[in-house]
Amino acid sequence: MNMNDAPQPTWQLSQRARKLTSSAIREILKVTERPEIISFAGGLPSPETFPIAAMRAATDRVFANDPVAALQYAPTEGYMPLREWIAARHSSGGVTIRATQVLVTTGSQQALDLIGKVLIDPDSRVLVETPTYLGALQSFSMYEPAYASVPSDDQGLIPASLTASLTDGARLLYTQPNFQNPTARRLPLERRQALAEIARQGRFPVIEDDPYGALDYRGEPLPTLLSLAPEHIVYFGSFSKVLAPGLRVGYVIAPEELHFKLVQAKQATDLHTPILTQRIVYEAIKDGFLEQHVPTVRALYREQCAAMLAALTRAMPPGVTWNTPEGGMFVWLTLPAHIDSMALLSASVAQNVAFVPGEPFYANDPGKHTLRLCFSTVSPARINAGVDILARLIADWPR
Ligand code: PMP
Repeated sequence: MNMNDAPQPTWQLSQRARKLTSSAIREILKVTERPEIISFAGGLPSPETFPIAAMRAATDRVFANDPVAALQYAPTEGYMPLREWIAARHSSGGVTIRATQVLVTTGSQQALDLIGKVLIDPDSRVLVETPTYLGALQSFSMYEPAYASVPSDDQGLIPASLTASLTDGARLLYTQPNFQNPTARRLPLERRQALAEIARQGRFPVIEDDPYGALDYRGEPLPTLLSLAPEHIVYFGSFSKVLAPGLRVGYVIAPEELHFKLVQAKQATDLHTPILTQRIVYEAIKDGFLEQHVPTVRALYREQCAAMLAALTRAMPPGVTWNTPEGGMFVWLTLPAHIDSMALLSASVAQNVAFVPGEPFYANDPGKHTLRLCFSTVSPARINAGVDILARLIADWPR
């Protein structure tokens, strides 16, 4: 049979899948894996922070102690000793989190998807920060919400802007109080208290996504929303930034009614997070390893952030502004109004420097003059070289 005579396929994609688009930015950033590229785009933890010896020893212990259990199917909710460890970690100062509220997930990215599955119908109102985590928008968008952007400033989300007209009928509010991706903003205590109060009113679940909380350069954490309203907050945690992201171990702490729905949704998705990696994580951390390891991660990022800020101060022309992060992996930059950060990306990739334009982090009106610089995987010397190239492009940009 001639290939041209083959019947045309008659199968159809779902409407949902038909709406999925590839991002222009992803196409441009494909080149950033080339070694000559100085990439401020990645958002990856530094491989220098991966505790390879400790993970290897933990893996050996898992196989020595109970290899069969590590290789067998396991409960959807997660490995009980790990759930107990997580619950204890978040219980202090009169707050008690129960292990039965903890669901171990395949990275906290899965928690975003599960929350979308159980809370969002087409056109449901979903409240997000301005800007917010691109991966959260991608996850929620599978369930076709109508986003309402909550006004935010240099200190993060503005609770006073959560008026009845904005929040009416909302299914959830998604927020990152600590060193937010993409802006590295940290929400001040008074705003945390105001948000906890809103959560207590119970009109919609408040989702606190906290993968960067431990990366606080001074080691002076502010209270989580979870600790302020433990019965009302849905909290996402992750081992990606404090151990390694390839483990794919995260968790969600939720009130029991919601926890049960998340478990049902997860069961249909992947039965459970790999029990092997859950056991390895537990074996690695159970005797206090994070207390010695996390300060080394913080110190590295503090140093790299300082190098980035010094380079920006030295090189950037007037009209460019940025924040001074107190933790995390990013600096958020605002360009003069005549420069669109998407156009700047094309020009800078041609000169071997990459970053992520702000646009995809906005649910509604895109911030065309903003961009995210991630310094976690770049040495101070390359940070300087990359910032010099960006600064020259910005200074010479035609008006
Ligand atoms: N939330 C935020 C805000 C993130 O930045 C990330 C990772 N970039 C995630 C969730 C997902 O992390 P993981 O699935 O590795 O836990």
